Amino acid sequence: MQAYLDDAASTRLDPRVLDEMLPLLSAEWGNPSSLHTRGRSAREAVERARERTARLVGAEPSEVVFTASGTEADNLAILGTAAALEGTPWHLVTSAIEHPAVLEPCRFLERRGVPVTWLPCGPDGRVAPEALRAALRPETRLVSVMAANNVTGVVQPVRELAAICTERGVPFHTDAVQAAGKVPLDVLADGVSLLSLSAHKIHGPKGAAALVVRKGTPLAPLLFGGGQEGGLRPSTEDVPAIAGLGKAAEIAALEMRDEAVRQVALREALVERVLAGIPGASLLGDRWRRLPGHAGFLFEGLEGAAPALLLALDEAGVAVSTGSACSARHADRPSHVLEAMGFDPVRARGALRVSMGRFTTRPDVERLLTALSEAAARLRAGAGLARPLIR
Ligand code: PLP
Repeated sequence: MQAYLDDAASTRLDPRVLDEMLPLLSAEWGNPSSLHTRGRSAREAVERARERTARLVGAEPSEVVFTASGTEADNLAILGTAAALEGTPWHLVTSAIEHPAVLEPCRFLERRGVPVTWLPCGPDGRVAPEALRAALRPETRLVSVMAANNVTGVVQPVRELAAICTERGVPFHTDAVQAAGKVPLDVLADGVSLLSLSAHKIHGPKGAAALVVRKGTPLAPLLFGGGQEGGLRPSTEDVPAIAGLGKAAEIAALEMRDEAVRQVALREALVERVLAGIPGASLLGDRWRRLPGHAGFLFEGLEGAAPALLLALDEAGVAVSTGSACSARHADRPSHVLEAMGFDPVRARGALRVSMGRFTTRPDVERLLTALSEAAARLRAGAGLARPLIR
């Protein structure tokens, strides 16, 4: 069996989630908008999922808008704000380390004349609240900063950033696709107006995600149709996938604390042995303020070799990622996240991302350590460097 350590890309469906979804994929095919019994039962499944999803992030069920992906939720947050503001000059603030699902709609708006401020991050991969304070203008109408970065796993100071926005009356969006279900989030206590999350990152299915829209946040739809999801995301609901998201959110909320403890122990064993055993290895970003099961590494002298390292690990039955899954097909390009952290373009090409989930075991980590040691040594020998040893 493969050792799968790429949970930041996508996670294995939890069998409890599959059990929730199966009846809705077969016997229960009703449309939730239909008034008959079968329709009402589909509606019940959607509303149960809404309550469970809301509970994961401290929202009211009525504040959850289901979408088909985290990308769609991010686009709805940013372009939906733009649509609500149509005709008013406004200013948008985001960060240089966002996922393309946020970067690209912001760039799209910038090309159409909306001024955008791109907040930098430090070498620790964190966006500084003071930078946000300095960037705000009287006409700022949205700030979007992710809750945890998909390349480094570094957790952002969401509560501090949101508090600055609350002070100034500016809606704050956070892309919590990597963070939700792994670290505690509470839209009310954190002061977040818009929050995106996605089922396939928390052992749910692909095809279901949500944008949490706090009451009173200006947002207009990007799709027009039958008025589902409070008119913000019309389409016949993907009932099985939405029910899967709800179940995945429920399990994540219940098991978050124990899982975090377990994954931090696995991650720390990995980090310590990689740093001690592979010469030139360094951890990307803040040492502690990171997702429990997420670590990104750079290997000095192997900068150009990250894709070769990944393929060698794959051959040895270990799945990890270079940088992020979305950028994996462009591994020859420097990562915008690493560049924002101050790495030169050569080093910014060489990251290896290890991310764990509920089904990651200690033997998986041991297998990665052995395979990584061997692959790095082979590649280094090819590059005429000394053979490293994992202790
Ligand atoms: N935002 C972040 C931080 C992500 O890591 C991802 C996916 O990798 C997305 C957004 C996009 O989510 P989805 O794959 O559900 O479209």
